Amino acid sequence: MIQANNPALRSWIPVPENSDFPIQNIPFGIAQLPDKLPNAVTIIGDTVIDIWELADAGLLEETKIHQSIFGHRYLNDFLKLNKADWRAVRNRLSNLFNEENQELQGNEELRKKALYAASDAQMLMPIKVGDYSDFYASKEHATNIGTMFRGKENALMPNWLHLPVGYHGRASSIVVSGTEVRRPMGQMRPDPEQPPIFGTCKLLDFELEMGIIMGQGKPLGERISTTEATDHIFGVVLFNDWSARDIQKWEYVPLGPFLGKSFASSISPWIVTLDALEPFRAPLAKREVPILPYLEVEGNKAIDINLSVEIQPEGADPTVVCRSNIKHMYWAFEQMLAHHTVNGCNIEAGDMIASGTISGLTPDSYGSMLELSWRGSKPLPMSDGSERKFIQDGDTVIMKGHCENEDVRIGFGEVTGKILPAHP
Ligand code: CA
Repeated sequence: MIQANNPALRSWIPVPENSDFPIQNIPFGIAQLPDKLPNAVTIIGDTVIDIWELADAGLLEETKIHQSIFGHRYLNDFLKLNKADWRAVRNRLSNLFNEENQELQGNEELRKKALYAASDAQMLMPIKVGDYSDFYASKEHATNIGTMFRGKENALMPNWLHLPVGYHGRASSIVVSGTEVRRPMGQMRPDPEQPPIFGTCKLLDFELEMGIIMGQGKPLGERISTTEATDHIFGVVLFNDWSARDIQKWEYVPLGPFLGKSFASSISPWIVTLDALEPFRAPLAKREVPILPYLEVEGNKAIDINLSVEIQPEGADPTVVCRSNIKHMYWAFEQMLAHHTVNGCNIEAGDMIASGTISGLTPDSYGSMLELSWRGSKPLPMSDGSERKFIQDGDTVIMKGHCENEDVRIGFGEVTGKILPAHP
């Protein structure tokens, strides 16, 4: 067992019941703390911990990692190290905050410099995203979308069961949770009998996804196998891939999504390490057709993560519109990474790979409004009595995720984003 995952561990920092951040989590992020420059942080319960400050006091010396790495604006240089280094830091932090350890617990002066109430920490974009690719790995989502646009018989394209379908996305517009998102404008063709128009997106949607944050990959021309993939993945975040359905529908043939996706995607600020998620591995869905050897995996490669989406209209309480789980995904992250690099494409530390919309088997587990409202034919009731077919101005979309077994709960916090009216 990875030392920091031991369910018997308890911290001297209070952890409220049902917290996403017990001592077994130790996620990584970047925060702006009062009167400090942005630097690396972790969280236990509701206490944000300044990792740079601990390193500066010599408490991370045994990890042999230079303290300056924790003082950078982004985590990318930390991600360039390897799994043994990430694990050493997480294990050491776990050890420092163990209830029996006095090194920091007994040092009031340092505690004052290193520990902050979560409400005093402004979470920032944790990585400088290099490249971003988005997959389409939920069979239920692909089937739903295919059924809507091509009919039930032709729902899945002939390639879908043989390879994880993906496209190259836009890295520059990935923003951290809490960033307001402006409704896009663009070209669309709402009436197929009339010429296209320029206007405000009317069919604004979310996509419930998760993304992996990459550690160092391999040089151009080399491949990462499914077995090696696990060691190259640093961690996982919640990912809202905002989508303008009307812009997307008109533009996507034949090269795929473009401006209907690139106006914004939002991520949760805490990167939960793949190590912390290992106790929640689950069997991958059974293959429906034989797959090529480079995509085969051994052992449990799905992850059991409960996910939810809420819509909060301006001034009203949020309404849960979706409950899903990423364990339903047909393709594992390891397979996406092996496929991504099978042609020799290089991956670099700080790259992101998103799963694609995570829809489950039942209509209340669909991961987008397009599916939940079935193209707008089934409006969803909100707590204030209004209805939603798609997302309206002033709405905040909130996605949450957590893993849970009888011993421990590991959560992701949330990714939120409020929609602002379009710039006319
Ligand atoms: Ca997507």
